Amino acid sequence: MAKYDYDLITIGAGSGGVRASRRAAGLGKRSAVIENLRVGGTCVMRGCVPKKLLVIGSHFADDFEDAAGYGWQAVSPDFSWPRLIAAKAAELDRLEDVYHRILREAGVEEITGTGRLADSHTVEVDGKAMTAETILVCTGGWPKMPDIPGIEHAITSNEALDLPELPKRIAIVGGGYIAVEFAGIFNGFGADVTEIIRAPQILRGFDEDARDVLAHEMEKKGIHIMRETVVRSIEKCEGGFSLRFPYGKELEADLVMYATGRSPNTSGLGLEEAGVKLDDKGAILVDEFSKTAVDNIYAIGDVTERLNLTPVALAEAEAFINTVYRDTPTAMDYANIASAVFSQPPIGSVGLSEAQARSQTDIDVYVSRFTPMKYTLSGRDEKTMMKIVVDQKTDRVLGCHMVGLDAPEIIQGLAIALKCGATKAQFDATIGIHPTAAEEFVTMREKRED
Ligand code: NDP
Repeated sequence: MAKYDYDLITIGAGSGGVRASRRAAGLGKRSAVIENLRVGGTCVMRGCVPKKLLVIGSHFADDFEDAAGYGWQAVSPDFSWPRLIAAKAAELDRLEDVYHRILREAGVEEITGTGRLADSHTVEVDGKAMTAETILVCTGGWPKMPDIPGIEHAITSNEALDLPELPKRIAIVGGGYIAVEFAGIFNGFGADVTEIIRAPQILRGFDEDARDVLAHEMEKKGIHIMRETVVRSIEKCEGGFSLRFPYGKELEADLVMYATGRSPNTSGLGLEEAGVKLDDKGAILVDEFSKTAVDNIYAIGDVTERLNLTPVALAEAEAFINTVYRDTPTAMDYANIASAVFSQPPIGSVGLSEAQARSQTDIDVYVSRFTPMKYTLSGRDEKTMMKIVVDQKTDRVLGCHMVGLDAPEIIQGLAIALKCGATKAQFDATIGIHPTAAEEFVTMREKRED
């Protein structure tokens, strides 16, 4: 008789958990996955997927306007927020069904409830104990908000994706991915958006030119960015909420949204009692093979706060499977992972920012700014910016950054080149596709003067 009920119990059926549990089952392992919300996790149910659908939806406002420049009779069609939210909800239901089917067909047992470690081999779900040789924790993260008076009036991205109606005036606090993306969504749908950031500029960590260009384009679209500003309190007032700032300033809004980062979901899981170590932010500490301080307990995805992106969680799941079940210890490679911000216009980025590269070596920088072809006839005042950061000594391309139409699609291709260690000479030797925006990346010849 088997020593344990399962070979693998996975806690959390988000991107990483679904991938790992079904891969294990595919290798003949007795695999169960525990989830207390919807299968699919943050990305599919409360993040990337619904957010991108809203980004696509809101961009039509520009597209209708631009069509007039191409001879279409100008139209201003009616927009229904509830219709969009219902269509998005139906798509998420469809995706959830797909996930259930994938798990079922792989032979994974789905367990609904909240899992808690009773000891290093035992998980309890609503009072029922089950044992496994290996336990994988991938419980993701959850929005966090600062503890200020009136914070209970604010919503997070979770609720923003399901608002019953579109508010007229929205205040968004935070300058990260989520804040910037929702500012673009609500602005596209015609709301009056104010983004409040405590730093001098949005998107800390991104290339400085990309940050400046995006902020400028957002402001041109009418998004008001309040810089170096901290909200002191939120009060309910007639018709909405009043945000109070130091020095007596105030802002009224119908909706206040906080996007001030996310915290790993580790409390109440019995992790520390089982011997798993957490860092000071509550993230699970793991080694290069995603192993925790306990030999048979592993953790992947946002709960480990390494690089909180869905494709990273998927890759960490594959590395975990190789390590534990294929006898091939695999450490995840975090170098040159491309990412995007689905702002309007979007950002695509891979490799080092100019400042990061400059702190490591001598560099050359190539920058191109232009009006995308689509906007020539439509007359839209929106610029694209592309940038290449090159190591002077080795000629290797260290970073590529773009703000503008299709940036995430273009940067994904360039990420392969950077992964292969491409040099600027190889970029130059690549023949462009004309007429595209992407060809600029292989035709920039003039170094920027420092
Ligand atoms: P981020 O960590 O990206 O940004 C948090 C923002 O909130 C920063 O601007 C930060 O300011 C600000 N902030 C933090 N605490 C406070 C506070 N007390 N008062 C005011 N401002 C504060 O978090 P997000 O919530 O935007 O996103 C969470 C994660 O989700 C990201 O790290 C990313 O990995 C992932 N994600 C990825 C997306 C994508 O790939 N397209 C999209 C959405 C999310 P400061 O800069 O000054 O610290």
